[in-house]
Amino acid sequence: MSKQLEIKNLSVNVEGTQIIRNLSLTVPRGEVHALMGPNGTGKSTLAKVLAGHPDYEVTSGEVFLDGESILDMQVDERARAGLFMAFQYPSEIPGVSIANFLRAARQARLEEGEEIDAVSFYKTLYEKMDLLQIDRKFTSRAVNEGFSGGEKKRNEILQMAMLEPSYAIMDETDSGLDIDALRIVSEGVNRLRGPNLGVLLITHYQRILDYIVPDHVHVMWNGTIVKSGGKELARELEEKGYDWIKEAFAEPAGKA
Ligand code: ADP
Ligand code: MG
Repeated sequence: MSKQLEIKNLSVNVEGTQIIRNLSLTVPRGEVHALMGPNGTGKSTLAKVLAGHPDYEVTSGEVFLDGESILDMQVDERARAGLFMAFQYPSEIPGVSIANFLRAARQARLEEGEEIDAVSFYKTLYEKMDLLQIDRKFTSRAVNEGFSGGEKKRNEILQMAMLEPSYAIMDETDSGLDIDALRIVSEGVNRLRGPNLGVLLITHYQRILDYIVPDHVHVMWNGTIVKSGGKELARELEEKGYDWIKEAFAEPAGKA
């Protein structure tokens, strides 16, 4: 069985409109793949479909996690299967502290009857918080409530570090970050990189790829992947912008 996240000929409708068109993409464990593309092209839609968001209707295609089909799984089953999602706009969860949230999330991974060891939980939590330069006073703060953009994104990476997924989808983790926060977040991700983690890093801008150097780059336009290549493809996009992609892959005249 191949250890990979495999998206095969996926098409998705949102409220009756096709947003994802016959998209195929494979991310092997151990690799970081960047997914780039102009706004409105369907990147976040893809991320939400993978996460199991109920508003999106898969009209055809398949998604496999280490060979196992996930499209019929509930959100929590996908998480337990090893999938993690860092959202473009992380939700606030008033009344639930970061520590309790992460503890519950880790507890949910254990077999029935098993209990998390509190001492080792906090030890791990503090290690990861130090790594991401998150102040310990955040442990007792409600998840994302009143956080700055940068704090929310760091908290997403903290969740990822604590949940130890096999595959992480990161949707514009770089948006809204100043250069210092970007460096901290990137360093956090780089420390998590390794043979057991596959990453799909969704980004509009090349900038984060200076810090998290991808193994492969895919360009998405109009709901599908139109070009794939090495890390130099990201630079090319940065220099030339997305207009040449739009021109090269524009629908034939009269079809619009
Ligand atoms: P990207 O992340 O690449 O900027 P999105 O996936 O957010 O693109 O959006 C792709 C297209 O799908 C846009 O035209 C957007 O308006 C539409 N879309 C996404 N989610 C919804 C939704 N829940 N309802 C209606 N349209 C949506
Ligand atoms: Mg988006």
